[in-house]
Amino acid sequence: MNHSRPSRSPAVAVVSGNILTMDPERPRAEAFAVRDGRILAVGERRQMLATFASENVEEIHYERGAVIPGLIDSHNHMLWTGIQRTQANLAGCKSIADVLAEVERYANAHREKEWVVSGAGWHVEALAERRYPTRKELDAVSPTRPIYLPRVGHAAAVNSEALRRAGIDRNSKDPPGGRIERDERGEPTGLLLEPPAFNLVGRCVPPQSREERRQALRDVQRAYQAVGISGVIDPGLAPEDMSIYEDLLRAEELTVRSVIMPLAQTHDDTEEVLARLRAWGVHTGFGNDRLKLGGIKVYLDGGASLGTALMREPYPDEKCQCGIQVTHTDAFHRIVELCARAGWSIGVHTVGGKAIDIALEVFDEVDKKHPIGDLRFSLIHAYLWPTPENIACARRLNVAVATQASMQYQFAPLLVRRFGKDLVGKATPVKSWIDGGIIVGGGSDSPVTPFPPLLGIWHAVTRHVDSLGMPLGADQAISVEQALVMYTRNAAWLSFSERERGMIRPGMLADWVALSEDPLAIDPMRLRELSVVATAIGGEIVHRL
Ligand SMILES: [Zn+2]
Repeated sequence: MNHSRPSRSPAVAVVSGNILTMDPERPRAEAFAVRDGRILAVGERRQMLATFASENVEEIHYERGAVIPGLIDSHNHMLWTGIQRTQANLAGCKSIADVLAEVERYANAHREKEWVVSGAGWHVEALAERRYPTRKELDAVSPTRPIYLPRVGHAAAVNSEALRRAGIDRNSKDPPGGRIERDERGEPTGLLLEPPAFNLVGRCVPPQSREERRQALRDVQRAYQAVGISGVIDPGLAPEDMSIYEDLLRAEELTVRSVIMPLAQTHDDTEEVLARLRAWGVHTGFGNDRLKLGGIKVYLDGGASLGTALMREPYPDEKCQCGIQVTHTDAFHRIVELCARAGWSIGVHTVGGKAIDIALEVFDEVDKKHPIGDLRFSLIHAYLWPTPENIACARRLNVAVATQASMQYQFAPLLVRRFGKDLVGKATPVKSWIDGGIIVGGGSDSPVTPFPPLLGIWHAVTRHVDSLGMPLGADQAISVEQALVMYTRNAAWLSFSERERGMIRPGMLADWVALSEDPLAIDPMRLRELSVVATAIGGEIVHRL
């Protein structure tokens, strides 16, 4: 927002430099012209300046580096990321001491808050002790203010005051489906497992106000623009989350183009889910170039690092446990069939191989009655281990994949302990998907993994894992060009916006990013070090270094 507007705003802006258009018909250009938020023309600089000489023209010239289309993250929980940024951040913690230090720092910095709450995107496997902090350890940081440290969907660590407020003591029974962990004397340790248990405390935390949530979304957009993100697909939103997006749209504060995917809340009764979908009357694609409805999001399984991804074989360290199928196949089938009939797209969270198999089998069955080829169904993550049959099936059904290189970057070190290097190297086989003719969208899954697209592009190209000091699955590395396509054209396609975004081409929206160096000309190991010099959305420069 630091764009200083000239007193008389120019009718036409000519952006010049080394333009990588991502348009297969004209991959490179010297300049493009922008009017009213759209690209008017692409071509040579002189010609462009001469063509618009009679108009009030401003030139934006990038001497070095490259200009590329705005980057689109095809799987990014932007609102959740924004909210998490207002809470204690445990994501980088490497030990219990780190966790306690961050909780203390946050508690001192936010004395106005009654509760000390962390974001949920942290990983206990990343802590040296590989366990949660105990109630007693948290009490030492804050004996009187309640502390609540939830961890993505499955657990929370709390202090004694939080237990007291929730009325949990040694006499409390475990709620159905949840567990209150206890020490040898039967006292709660402060660890609460699964939602029925940790929600006992969670529901005591005062909810954030709508204005706090709006502010979180306003702020996070600036952080995204600073790393070159001009658009996201935010998957799995509840109605009240979608209305926060609508608030910002109405106030003209939604500056990152957003495609929002409603969650078919799979803990609910399927009939209720289906009735709600039917009652909506609108479908995927409804909206405008700022805010649009994407597909329905459904979870089929859990996560790899949690041991809840649905695998074809038991986890090596838990002999008979294959993970968790979150939505039963028949319920999933009915949701998919309704989507196919009603013209909704659907994105399915599938981390483990068995989940991938089930999703594709159901898609295939439904397709026989209600063709899905035009609906852009997608597999989200498709992480541990798609087979050649999966790839062929996805290709036949025109099913896309939303992949997250940052997931491999973040979780590979943890998964290697469990599955070994060879198997983990085969996770996220992006090259096989692409070679198999699948449309693969790039993204991050923020806040579960870091959102900068250049980090994801770097990893997709190098497959390098820092903690191992080597690449994992180097045969699945892709070219820089292919990685850029994932974050531009393909993510635009997954956003139902490929006619307007993903390329620098006449008629498209003027979303562009200026990079400090040409990503196609440097050592790929340096891709994550490139600076985002400027980001423009709809012709307006929203970030400038
Ligand atoms: Zn996600």
